[in-house]
Amino acid sequence: MKGTNHGLKYIMSNHIIPSVEFHRTIPERRTPDELKKIAHIKRFLELLTGDRKFREQLKANPDQADQIAKSRALDLDLKKFSSKFQTPLVCAGQDPEFPLAVLWREWIDDLIKFRSMLREDGYSSTADPRFNAWRKRQVERTNSEMGAVRGDAITHPIFSFELSKGCSVGCWFCALGAKSFEGYYQRTPKNVSLWRETLNTSVELFGSAVQTSFCYWATEPFDNPNYLDFLQDYKDIVGVLPQTTSAVSTRDLVWTRRLMDMIKAGNALPSRFSIINSKTLRDLHRMFSPEELVRNELLMQLKESSYGKARAGKTLKKVNSPGKKEAGLQVNEGVSSIACVSGYLVSMMDRTIKLVSPCQASEQWPMGFRIHDEGTFGDAKDFGAFITGSISKHMPSSLPIDKPVAFRNGLAYEQNENGFILSSQASAHSFTGDEFVARLGDMVAEGIHSPAQIVGALVDSGADIFGVRGTLSDLYDKGFLEDMVV
Ligand code: SF4
Repeated sequence: MKGTNHGLKYIMSNHIIPSVEFHRTIPERRTPDELKKIAHIKRFLELLTGDRKFREQLKANPDQADQIAKSRALDLDLKKFSSKFQTPLVCAGQDPEFPLAVLWREWIDDLIKFRSMLREDGYSSTADPRFNAWRKRQVERTNSEMGAVRGDAITHPIFSFELSKGCSVGCWFCALGAKSFEGYYQRTPKNVSLWRETLNTSVELFGSAVQTSFCYWATEPFDNPNYLDFLQDYKDIVGVLPQTTSAVSTRDLVWTRRLMDMIKAGNALPSRFSIINSKTLRDLHRMFSPEELVRNELLMQLKESSYGKARAGKTLKKVNSPGKKEAGLQVNEGVSSIACVSGYLVSMMDRTIKLVSPCQASEQWPMGFRIHDEGTFGDAKDFGAFITGSISKHMPSSLPIDKPVAFRNGLAYEQNENGFILSSQASAHSFTGDEFVARLGDMVAEGIHSPAQIVGALVDSGADIFGVRGTLSDLYDKGFLEDMVV
């Protein structure tokens, strides 16, 4: 799949990433009856997590769960979903089976598999191997920094393109710290041409891995009235329709239906709707049947939600008010992040580009992502030049041997009997082995020695050169060494 903008044209629709194909087959592998049940379970769970009145009604009358669900047009035999809805008499001494729970779990298992596949699809043979290795290090680092469960939820898309500036929605909890809306990327012939050329350059540099990308960040997609037209360009060039996440899905139904039709046309990533108030949840449920929304995740961000908010961006320093008891108004205690890109954050309006990767929000990185480099571009050539330059500058093919190494920021170092332990807030990793391991740990922890010096000192005292080099490389590849180039 080689070519240039000036000659051979990529036909990306012939190179669809496996995760998109897999996602398409998820409903196809279910019977119509199973799909209907899944759609109704999904809506039931949305009401349970997003509608306080429904939740309380159910809690007070678990034995009338089916009727309560029916009052919301749901057709479910909830005794087949959870023991919570079985009377103690029915459960006693029996081993109840929950076929609806099995159906739901298998559906969720498929979605989790899709997520893992999407993360793998961010590596492509077209991309510079140095970029692939860098991205792998960021994946490893985030897993260690945030813990396996949170880390596993991040798909590390390689591009996010913003098509507007700021956000008109203004959520108090915006973990990306979106500023007020300032305008959108107009659909002028010049802008369309820059957009298309930028996408072409991205595809030239990264091939099918670009299909993991999306077209919003700290922005609301619907704020650009031509968002869907830009998305159509994206599909023409990149080969798939990217994910959309909108908090104003009921603002313009024509728009929402058009998006859903574009998704139905195929080669599309799933889209999501953020629910920021009870009216949006009610309207969305009224306007679309459970079956119509079965493939759209609803993110419960409303105050009636049973979930708290991530601590990052606008909420990084927020002190929970003791008077407000609702979970949806609380900010979770530990710092977090909702950032996902390990690659490039592009503002088409400002013509800026940043090399970023997710991290726990902190004083240094309040928005929950590291900025490894940033620049501007006037045209697609500049855009490509920034990317290739950033790869050369920030993504060595292996651990540089002549620069001091240190454990990454945020890791606590501790010696133990046969080596050392590195721990973050979310995980701990033990390194043990030959005698040299403990000394190697000490030298890296000092943060002043280069790998060449560490290898030299340890080999002089009798360590095996391959063992020392291998351990240093492993530490680097697994994201334990700081790789921010300053
Ligand atoms: S959470 Fe989304 S919709 Fe809300 S302010 Fe941030 S970017 Fe805008």
